[in-house]
Amino acid sequence: MKPNPKILAFGCHPDDVEILCGGTLALLARLDCDIHIAVMAGGDVGSPVLPRFVIREQRLKEGQAAADIIGAQFHFAGGEDLEVEYNDAYRRRAVRVMREVNPDIVLTHSPMDYLIDHEETSRLVRNAAFIGIVPNYDCGAAVPPTSKIPHLYYANAIGRRDIFGRPLPLTCAVDVSPVMETKTRMLACHASQREWLRCVLECDDYLEMMQRATEAEGRAAGFGYAEGYIQHLGEGHPQDNILKQLLGDACLEFHPASTVNPVFP
Ligand SMILES: [Zn+2]
Repeated sequence: MKPNPKILAFGCHPDDVEILCGGTLALLARLDCDIHIAVMAGGDVGSPVLPRFVIREQRLKEGQAAADIIGAQFHFAGGEDLEVEYNDAYRRRAVRVMREVNPDIVLTHSPMDYLIDHEETSRLVRNAAFIGIVPNYDCGAAVPPTSKIPHLYYANAIGRRDIFGRPLPLTCAVDVSPVMETKTRMLACHASQREWLRCVLECDDYLEMMQRATEAEGRAAGFGYAEGYIQHLGEGHPQDNILKQLLGDACLEFHPASTVNPVFP
């Protein structure tokens, strides 16, 4: 492994990455990893009052500010909210970002989540991680193919359950207790979402909602606060748990087939 692995957290909307894996990114930044945060869509429906182009510009600035807190680079793939789908245009966007970063480790949404935008982003990022290396695939930008197929992890679904209400089969959980203050500051950069979530989800404080979810993940793993992941172990992807190698005791591995998995018994 290279001394400073490159991490790409590729989410759908501005704030998704901070909610799902901001703590893990903060820990990896402490280890001098090269951190990149990408969003598939610009957050252009995330306001009850502002026009699309105005709220998009504001939300991309908020995403940049959150990335700045941990010294991460911020990327916008160019998509639009509620229109993310597995098609040619979005495939090219996803592969362009994947090639621009050429990551060692990719974090993205769970293949099953409450919002189809998230699920489609998961498919697009999974595919980009696999085909970014293919020289004859034209992503429409003059950027060279990736140099390898990266480690790929899916963050736990929002709400920590699939669409049938079942827990997902996590393979590991990362103890983010020491960086909860940083994770909270990153999410607080997305100030526009406080009013939006109050409006659509009747959630009065999105920071508290994130903290409660991270605490619940921690309880299930025996940590104060945690972020859970499922490693993609499909053919062609690296099979070793690089997060465990990087984070040591802060990464608890679950072995559903052999031992008790406190999250998915
Ligand atoms: Zn989202």
